[in-house]
Amino acid sequence: MNLLEFVYARLEDEYYRNTSKFPGALDEWEMKRQLIALLFRRLEAVDGEWGCGHKAHEISQGLCEDTPIDSIPELRWMAWPSRKHSDFEDRWMPPGVRI
Ligand SMILES: [Zn+2]
Repeated sequence: MNLLEFVYARLEDEYYRNTSKFPGALDEWEMKRQLIALLFRRLEAVDGEWGCGHKAHEISQGLCEDTPIDSIPELRWMAWPSRKHSDFEDRWMPPGVRI
């Protein structure tokens, strides 16, 4: 499991746990999904300008050596609230945050 798969799995947990019970939870869930999509489009733009020209879907599949999934700080922060989960790996802690 890589960091993106972990983040998506926690989003799926969140969807089934919250969206039927709490008003607004679906909006928050959708917002997080959209932010992830925007993040990869931004990474595509950066990779096109400065890197090896990978598309967003390629970067999200871990195909860009310049942008390893597990090193993306935005994803590390998205995973951080779930750091007590058994699938969380310590190397995914956001930069500068102690374990
Ligand atoms: Zn690349």
